[in-house]
Amino acid sequence: MKKFRPDELGSGPNGLVPAQVRMSNWFNTPGNQVYRVPCRPHFILIAPNLFKLVNNLSSMPIEICGIGGFSETGKNSTAIRIDDEVVILDMGLHMENYIRYTKDEDISALTYEELLEVNAVPNYRLIDEWRDKVIAIVPGHGHLDHIGAVLFSIKLFPHASIVCTPFTAEVLKSIFADEQIKLSNKIISLNLNSTYKLSEKISVELVYMTHSIPHTAMIVLHTPSGKIVYANDYKFDNHPVLGQKPNIERLKEIGEEGVKVLIVEALYAHEHKKTPSEAVAQQMLKDVMLGVHAEGKAIIATTFSSHLARLKSMVDLGKKLNRRIVFLGRSLSRYVIAGQNIQIIDFKSEVKLVRNKDKLEKILHKINKDGKGKYLLVVTGHQGEPKAILSRMARGELNFRFTTGDVVIFSCSVIPVELNRNNRDVLERELKNKGVRIFRDIHVSGHAAREDHRDLIEFVRPKHIIPSHGGQDKAVHLVELAEEMGYEINKSVHLLEDGKRILIK
Ligand SMILES: [Zn+2]
Repeated sequence: MKKFRPDELGSGPNGLVPAQVRMSNWFNTPGNQVYRVPCRPHFILIAPNLFKLVNNLSSMPIEICGIGGFSETGKNSTAIRIDDEVVILDMGLHMENYIRYTKDEDISALTYEELLEVNAVPNYRLIDEWRDKVIAIVPGHGHLDHIGAVLFSIKLFPHASIVCTPFTAEVLKSIFADEQIKLSNKIISLNLNSTYKLSEKISVELVYMTHSIPHTAMIVLHTPSGKIVYANDYKFDNHPVLGQKPNIERLKEIGEEGVKVLIVEALYAHEHKKTPSEAVAQQMLKDVMLGVHAEGKAIIATTFSSHLARLKSMVDLGKKLNRRIVFLGRSLSRYVIAGQNIQIIDFKSEVKLVRNKDKLEKILHKINKDGKGKYLLVVTGHQGEPKAILSRMARGELNFRFTTGDVVIFSCSVIPVELNRNNRDVLERELKNKGVRIFRDIHVSGHAAREDHRDLIEFVRPKHIIPSHGGQDKAVHLVELAEEMGYEINKSVHLLEDGKRILIK
């Protein structure tokens, strides 16, 4: 590996002094240089000849800064600069750090600074000098690790519009309304498979994609320096339970037109498979709900509140069982109402939504009176969150008693972090002690696996690939796949870290 000394390279524009060369041990092979500039913020320059690169800045390179989600899973956010304009893709929370910190806090009183202190929000100090250049914030979908930090970070970007799909817009609005915080930035609700002109130079296109929440977009930035495709998160589901198939035709067209950079989630790049369709989860759910003997017993199901396709399957099966369906918990109401507002679901005549304390006690009283065997309860708390409905029911804090033979279906996986594992252990122990039959992992993932990524790379044929959504432990698997497909590390596939920048010409 060739190491450059500062005096060998001299000063570049903006006073940058390339002074240190570092290489990840993992990729410690000749020719895989990663150049890091020691002044803040750090730069990784991907061309071997730094001089050539900095001298050509006038031809508007794409500068990408990993704000969050590149060194660890969570707080997804990427800033992209083209000339004097910056677009931020995603503004998510680090859920584990956020939940741990906010246990008993009043959310509306939290400040960006204190959440930054506990590493729960993306660190926008990394792009301090870009702040007034930010023209738009584009979240790809409504999961909190992609939009949850908007509530706390948006005041840093008072002039930026938020561009997102109608469902994501509804979710954002409800988050602000719940906390009674006024959002002064303009929200531009852009339909899927449409394009919006952000400025003279930059347009944003939202391509229809499948994931585990409705209205997920693959974001395409059209810029004079080339197209940037942001695939964070997605899966290719050709048999969706709710909504349309992913718009693969458009991806191929975009590939034909030429893609400069693909930023793609690497969360499940280590899984050598294609992620199964949501239709598979629907069958698994059907097998349990219609297959187990639960006459006269409670059937309680829990899943991600934003997973409207899964909730729809539960509602359909509840109807088949001839049970009255009740959704208990605030976040379930939030996403169902958001979906109903934009008419992608309609549970009004089939489901009773219960979100506040008084109504909760009232409905539980009625369920006890009618007999719990007449109901399907869909509740919050699939990760064992201590304050969610299921844990409170299990601890006997609500007016509901579990008895032997009651059924609890976890239609989810346990998010593999210590907090969730511990919470789920506590909850399951509590349920088992009461003789409850537990059905785990009635679920398929919403994230692309390695063979989906292979297809995506084939469709869009990008010049450069940057893995995202996870640290190097995840990203290396996507690098491995890219190398299989002819890409070269640090030449056409790049490992980005939080706080680092890449210049792509
Ligand atoms: Zn997601």
